Amino acid sequence: MPKQEITEIDSQLFPSFRPGVSYFRNREDEIYVGFRHRGLALISHSPAIDRVLELLDGSLSIAEILNQVAGGQADESISELEISKLLNPLLTFNFIELSPNRMRVKTSRELLSQSFINQEAKLKPELNLYSWAVNLAGSKDGVGERALYKNLNKKSARDQIVDRAEFAILIFGKNRLATTLFTLFQASGFNRTKLITRSQGLLQRSQNGPAKSRKVSLDQVCGLGIRSSDVGMDFDAVMSEISNGAGLNTLVRPTFPAIPSFIISTERAQSDYVQRWMSEGIPYLLISDLIESQIEIGPIVIPGQSPCAFCLELWRSENNPLVQKFELLNSLNDALELPASAVATIAGLVVLQTSQFAATGKSRLIGSSVRMNLLEPCYPEPAHFRPHSGCGCVL
Ligand SMILES: [Zn+2]
Repeated sequence: MPKQEITEIDSQLFPSFRPGVSYFRNREDEIYVGFRHRGLALISHSPAIDRVLELLDGSLSIAEILNQVAGGQADESISELEISKLLNPLLTFNFIELSPNRMRVKTSRELLSQSFINQEAKLKPELNLYSWAVNLAGSKDGVGERALYKNLNKKSARDQIVDRAEFAILIFGKNRLATTLFTLFQASGFNRTKLITRSQGLLQRSQNGPAKSRKVSLDQVCGLGIRSSDVGMDFDAVMSEISNGAGLNTLVRPTFPAIPSFIISTERAQSDYVQRWMSEGIPYLLISDLIESQIEIGPIVIPGQSPCAFCLELWRSENNPLVQKFELLNSLNDALELPASAVATIAGLVVLQTSQFAATGKSRLIGSSVRMNLLEPCYPEPAHFRPHSGCGCVL
């Protein structure tokens, strides 16, 4: 490793290993830290270093760790400089996280409430992934000293997941993809998620009364969220049951705001809807219908900043003047439903992308899309769009 200056680290910060990082004494004077594919060797004879590594779990600040280690035998003490020397390479390699807040409380299990233990168990898989995302969002310069300061200004993965409860998502559509997205968003902590549609196909009208509530139909069953036993039941009641059962952030009773933070269109959105999203400045994500064996995810539209749904239509009509006639014809028919595996794949990708967009406001899908051949799903093809001069949405 190249020699580098030791940065003084604020001793009030709470260091912790990122999920999955291992360490072990490889030789008498060497501790290996990292993974199978990358890691670093710390050269030290001191048993105090072993002790410090054990304490990097976010429950103690650097000052408290120094205190604890100093409390041991004389040969186990360690100075503030030595701890900085130890933590610097770990930070450079992005193996530890520094938080301004205590990340976990060490207490005996009996003293914790059951609901707290349950909540932590549900949160852990999200943290396993998103503890790494904090840095990935910083792109290439996410490693090294700059990363250290960058990370300190960013929210912890835990806070980001808690914040999802405030990020209201409107899902346009009530097909299999929409209901699966709803389930996954709930399970990821986006508990302000709502489904809407304008499709009359799902409305059952009585002969002379107003529209009755929607019922779950057989084609919505795909093993993800909606089950066969739900068929014929009130759609909204089933959705609310899913939300209670799968919800990660269940502490608040969610109310849905007048203007959502994000919209996902899983079915052809009529132009007056899109016009409204544009004028209200709500970012939205377009997902195409199934065409042959392909589906297109994206782009995410940031109104006024990136090419919109109308820009795309104009580009497509330029390439093929028949596009508008096709659109008109398609709008009269229900779109083709997807098989369960395709629903799971697309819904998973969309929720992962949306989680990053919610946390950072950034996404590679802004102005871009990926076209996926569902028969060869591991090789999506990207496409990029420019605003169309005939649309005038981006000045
Ligand atoms: Zn436009």
